[in-house]
Amino acid sequence: MEHSDAERRRSRGRAALRAAPWLPGALALLLAGCASHPAVDAPQDTPRDAPAAPAASTTADAVAAASAATAAEQPGVVPQVRTTRVFDDDGLRFDNLLPAARLSGIERLGEGRYRVDIAPETEPVNPSAWYGFRIHADAPRALELRFAYAHGHRHRYVPKLSVDGRTWREARADEFQLDADGTARLRLQLAAGELRVFAQPPLLPEDFEAWSASVATGLGVEPATFGRSVQGRPLRMFEFGAGADAPVLLVLGRQHPPENTGTQALMGFVEALAADTPQARSFRDRVRVLVVPLLNPDGVVEGHWRGNARGVDINRDWGPFAQPETRALRDLLQQRGIGAGRVAFAIDFHSTFRDVFYTVAEDPSRAPDGVLHAWMAAMQAGFDIEEKPSAARTPVFKNWAFCRLGAPAVTYEVGDTTPAAELESVARHAARSLMELLPAAAPPSAAPACPRFDAG
Ligand SMILES: [Zn+2]
Repeated sequence: MEHSDAERRRSRGRAALRAAPWLPGALALLLAGCASHPAVDAPQDTPRDAPAAPAASTTADAVAAASAATAAEQPGVVPQVRTTRVFDDDGLRFDNLLPAARLSGIERLGEGRYRVDIAPETEPVNPSAWYGFRIHADAPRALELRFAYAHGHRHRYVPKLSVDGRTWREARADEFQLDADGTARLRLQLAAGELRVFAQPPLLPEDFEAWSASVATGLGVEPATFGRSVQGRPLRMFEFGAGADAPVLLVLGRQHPPENTGTQALMGFVEALAADTPQARSFRDRVRVLVVPLLNPDGVVEGHWRGNARGVDINRDWGPFAQPETRALRDLLQQRGIGAGRVAFAIDFHSTFRDVFYTVAEDPSRAPDGVLHAWMAAMQAGFDIEEKPSAARTPVFKNWAFCRLGAPAVTYEVGDTTPAAELESVARHAARSLMELLPAAAPPSAAPACPRFDAG
């Protein structure tokens, strides 16, 4: 009985997650390897800029104007000009006015044929080639888009399409081609009206807030603001479980804007910790959980590839603490008295080209009697998960959590194209395995010496 109750609840949880209209369905495999930068064609005509944005709310306009102003003030960031481009000959408009949009330019190559120019917020930058824009067609017509990336970057994400911004589908193989030379081409039969084309369905701060509130409410707690981003957006967290002196599980997400699958895994993981099951209830009696699902809201809203509003990779700031987002979380933990000896485990969710867990080579809990070893063994018993340990040499969150807090720590990377159902079952297995193990023993009472982790 107990088991079937738990199964039913988990099924409901999964159904709710899948029903969330802003989450993508299963994604087909994108082969990321491609040879060279697409050739850039000369434009055949010059569009006029539209005086006003069609179908953009005043709120969106205000956010866009405010964020463009802020980005423009940041040295090193190329501000994205938020605008609408009108092509009367084809009855088409293109805009990047929506939150999370990224479109640097668009040129008409011929009838119904366009080159879409995409540039990152700064350079050099990781190859997370995010893009997002809206097309409006006056009448049904055929359209061909060629993607062209600045600085020789390559196309990464198969386009996701939505008419209403709520339900999304991936471009079909007959619509999207990635040629051997790296040229990415999207051919669409447009209906009259609007179509959104994004690298991934955008997950905006309000989506994180709605999810956090629903999980927190079920546990009788409320999300709280612990700081502000560069652009002044609230940084939000929620915590639940055992009392303020209990061992802590830290859960962090979305330091990098495009990483949707990492967010989906974080959600499945936290929902399993928050579930109304005997295992999870018992776990919450022993351990306190602190969840920060979105540490980089500005980067998400700006459509950045990697950085915050200043174009800084905040997962290289866990040492310098030069950014308000990382400082705010460090200070929150200090205020809570969550230092060395308090953190039983720390986990930071990301996305990359494949499923891989990065660990700290020096971490003693990787030894056969340690909690990280046991957890990895439990993961690898159920799934094909690679562990990649490396020396703590860079100021990433995982290394800071290990070097300064003494915590077993992992960067949990989910493949860009891992199907939603699969990443969700891995994430829930990860949570259930960890709940069995924590706290395995008292967390380390002193942080280990990591002399160089924050030097760079
Ligand atoms: Zn990342």
